[in-house]
Amino acid sequence: MSHPLSSMLERVDEIAKQNFTPQVVCPTCGERHCHIKHGFYRRYLFAGSDCVKIQRYRCLNSSCPRCTFSCLPHPFLPIVRLPLCVLFAIVDMVQNAQATIAAVARACSRSWSTIRRAVGTGGKLRRWMRSEWASPCLNPARRWSAFTRAFSFAFFPGRF
Ligand SMILES: [Zn+2]
Repeated sequence: MSHPLSSMLERVDEIAKQNFTPQVVCPTCGERHCHIKHGFYRRYLFAGSDCVKIQRYRCLNSSCPRCTFSCLPHPFLPIVRLPLCVLFAIVDMVQNAQATIAAVARACSRSWSTIRRAVGTGGKLRRWMRSEWASPCLNPARRWSAFTRAFSFAFFPGRF
């Protein structure tokens, strides 16, 4: 039987393959209608080495300084390579001393340092979400775009 974390990663891959695009909104000016498709880039899925295409858009608001942007589909997070549910599961397993970082790393086929970083990121994210957000995964159609924008602004303001 596979480890619960690897099963979780495979399930999240199935969700990610649906490539559900949330409402397209320019993260700089909030424009919802005046944008065009502008190529794409690829993101790795979570369990294997497959990728999905992420659509890029160009904002056509003439007063907006942003050239292009993307609206990440649920459950991709900006920059972070693990989904929310897996980050939180890792935090729980390590903090409740059910598993060592090394054991979690083996179960996820990730390095020790990746899982150590995931524990830190997951812990920070959980504290931030407690004060700011109900779970955006429960209603990605309405909440995922706003959540990923707020996430970028809170954790990676230099790359927002
Ligand atoms: Zn814009």
